[in-house]
Amino acid sequence: MALVKCPKCDDQEETTGLVTVCPKCRADLTQVMDQIGRTRKTRAADLVKDDSVTTHEFIVRTKGLIKEYKMGDQIVRALRGVDLDIRRGEYLSIMGPSGSGKSTLFNMVGGLDKPSSGTCFIEEVDMAQLDAFELAWLRCRKIGYIFQTFNIIPVMTALENVTLPMIFAGMSSDEMMDRGRTLLELVGLGDRLHHKPLELSGGQQQRVAVARALANSPAIILADEPTGNLDLQTGKEIIDLLKELNVESGVTII
Ligand code: ADP
Ligand code: MG
Repeated sequence: MALVKCPKCDDQEETTGLVTVCPKCRADLTQVMDQIGRTRKTRAADLVKDDSVTTHEFIVRTKGLIKEYKMGDQIVRALRGVDLDIRRGEYLSIMGPSGSGKSTLFNMVGGLDKPSSGTCFIEEVDMAQLDAFELAWLRCRKIGYIFQTFNIIPVMTALENVTLPMIFAGMSSDEMMDRGRTLLELVGLGDRLHHKPLELSGGQQQRVAVARALANSPAIILADEPTGNLDLQTGKEIIDLLKELNVESGVTII
């Protein structure tokens, strides 16, 4: 076990390899998360309807979505009134040339940025009505994100990367380890649990990202050019994996 400096309190602490903060800070964080969870989760859960059985036919809807970026005195209209209905369980590919607004749409649907006007509904909940905590709650539990550049954390092992979102969702440590292992096995990395990103190939890193996206059993996986940094064959394998997940678990994939 290594002695590392806790990034929160600067104490030298022995780590368990599970998270990067020391046990004391971890306990504090868990307490804060629990507290927030107790006071606010109920409302967010009510809003988002956290049942697996739900009647909403459309899991994502956008109406007149406009996004303008102001660059000095220039205005870039990245989205010009997007109306989109996406059904639960759908596997949807959005195609368009570079600069056509795909990532901008990804950011709106994923609650990572706000539209200039128009509305985005997730399970009929207007995202603009959610406060910061509710939005964080929704992003943590309802949406899994996959990026072109993988964006997994370099100092963490595959297992730590996959279990990280579970910490935010308040899962117990045993449950987390079990689920993390199961997910990594599901994406074909059962023998790479303790490898760090640099010790993995690009395709394997993206598999870690897929497993991480599934951490909290999201209803939607948003993938922004998930094969853009991979060779043709490896990219095809990632697409096959996403299709398989869509068919087998019914998760909506965009
Ligand atoms: P895509 O993902 O399809 O390549 P983007 O959504 O990244 O397209 O970009 C759409 C348009 O919006 C482009 O013209 C881009 O230059 C512009 N754009 C994207 N993000 C920003 C930003 N943060 N600030 C200003 N302009 C942006
Ligand atoms: Mg893009």
